[in-house]
Amino acid sequence: MPAKVDMDKIVSLCKRRGFIFPSSEIYGGLASCWDYGPMGVELKRNVKDAWWKAVVHERDDVVGLDTSIMMHPGVWAASGHIDNFTDPLVECKSCHLRWRADAIEGKRCPQCSGELTEPRMFNLMFKTFMGPVEEKASIVYLRPETAQGIFVNFENVVTTSRKKLPLGIAQIGKSFRNEITPGNFIFRTREFEHMELEYFVKPGTDEKWLDYWVKESFDWYVKLGIKKENLRLRQHGKDELAHYARDCYDIEYLFPMGWSELEGIANRGDFDLTQHAKCSGKELSYRDAEAGEKYVPYVIEPSAGVDRSVLAFLVDAYEEEEVEGEKRTVLHLHHSLAPIKVAVLPLSRNEKLTPLAKEVFKRLCPRFVTDYDDSQSIGRRYRRQDEIGTPFCVTIDFESLEDKQVTIRERDSLAQIRVPVEGLEKVIEAKLRGEAFDASTLWATRQK
Ligand SMILES: [Zn+2]
Repeated sequence: MPAKVDMDKIVSLCKRRGFIFPSSEIYGGLASCWDYGPMGVELKRNVKDAWWKAVVHERDDVVGLDTSIMMHPGVWAASGHIDNFTDPLVECKSCHLRWRADAIEGKRCPQCSGELTEPRMFNLMFKTFMGPVEEKASIVYLRPETAQGIFVNFENVVTTSRKKLPLGIAQIGKSFRNEITPGNFIFRTREFEHMELEYFVKPGTDEKWLDYWVKESFDWYVKLGIKKENLRLRQHGKDELAHYARDCYDIEYLFPMGWSELEGIANRGDFDLTQHAKCSGKELSYRDAEAGEKYVPYVIEPSAGVDRSVLAFLVDAYEEEEVEGEKRTVLHLHHSLAPIKVAVLPLSRNEKLTPLAKEVFKRLCPRFVTDYDDSQSIGRRYRRQDEIGTPFCVTIDFESLEDKQVTIRERDSLAQIRVPVEGLEKVIEAKLRGEAFDASTLWATRQK
C-alpha cells in the first residue's frame, strides 16, 4: 500500500510555504542538510513541546535534562560506540562512490557497475578536536545520541530530584551521525534532533514497562492526529538487536518511500549503567531505603527523531481536494501542531478596514500565534493559510465596521460563522481546544 502523497509534493510545499529549505542553498546546498524556515521552526517547536508536555510535564515520574553535545571520549568507549557504532562501507574502484555494503544488492557498483572494494567498518561518529592542537589526545566526538548524557548524570539527577524509581529522565537535543547514505528529505540526515527518554526501573519489572512505553509512544502519535492505519509496530528479530538491547520495538510510519522507523523503544537492561560504573570507577546503582535493597536499574528507552516526526505529521496532514471546482491543498495538522493558529485577513487592503483588522490582530496575538495578511486577493490568502495548516481565519469586511462582527472560517470544514469582535479570543480558544462554542453567549455579555 503506497502512501497517498509522493515526497516531491511535500518537499515542494515545504519550500514554497517556508517550512524547510535546503541548507546553504545560495552556495548550491549541502547534501542532506536542511534549514527550518518561519513555518518549519514553529511546527518543529510544537512537536517538541507536545512531546515534552506528554513525557515530562504531565507526569510526576519523569524529569528533564539538557546535556552538552561534546562529552568525555571515555563515554563513547564505555557505551560501545567506538567499537560497535559502525556500518560496513564499500567503495567503487571506478567512480569512487561509497556505499553501505548491507544496503546494496550484488557485488558491483549500483552507479556504474564497477568493481567494489572489500567492506571495511566505518564509524558513524563525527570526530573533531577540542582546543588548538589537532592531535589524537584532543579528539572529541559529536554525540550520536542524547542517551549517554542521561546515563552519566543518573546519580546527579536521582540525588537532586529526590524521586524514587521508576524514574524517567528525558532530553531533547541535536545528535550527529555520519551516515554513508542519508536521504529521503529530512528522514535521514547527518545532523538531527532526538527526543529520548531513559526510564529507570527495577530489574524484573522491565518487560512490563517496555509494553507500557510501547503503548504510550504509539498513542502519542495517534493523539496528535496521525491515522492509525499509517502506523504499525514491529518487534526486532534477535539478529538485528543492537549490542545493548535485550528487546526492541519500532513504531513504523507509512512514509512516501514505504514503511520506515519513526521511533524505537528498547529494553537496554543494565548495560549502560554497568558499563559506565566499570569504566568510570564510580558506583552507579539505586538504593531503595524502604525495601532495604540496592540494585543497578534496568532502562526502557523510547527514542524518537524530531525531524522524522515532523515529516510524518506533514505527510499525514497533507490533502488535495476539490472545492467548488477548484483544487485545494490543505494540511490538516492537529491544532496544537499548526505553526499559525489564527490568521487575521481584512477583505482587502482598504484604509477603512485596516484599523479594525489591526485591532483584532492586537487582541489575538498575545494569546495565539497569529498571522496578519492583507496582500493579494482573499481567495489566495485562504489558500496560503490552508497550505500551512492554519486552523482558523478571521475575516474583516465592510459589514464588520457597522456591526462589529467578523467571520471565522474553519480550515477543515470550511464552515463560516459570524461572531462579535468582543470575546473573539474566547471563541478561538474553545475552538482550538476542539469545543463547540455558543457565540450567542457573547451577545448576552455585550448587551449589558
Ligand atoms: Zn561506480
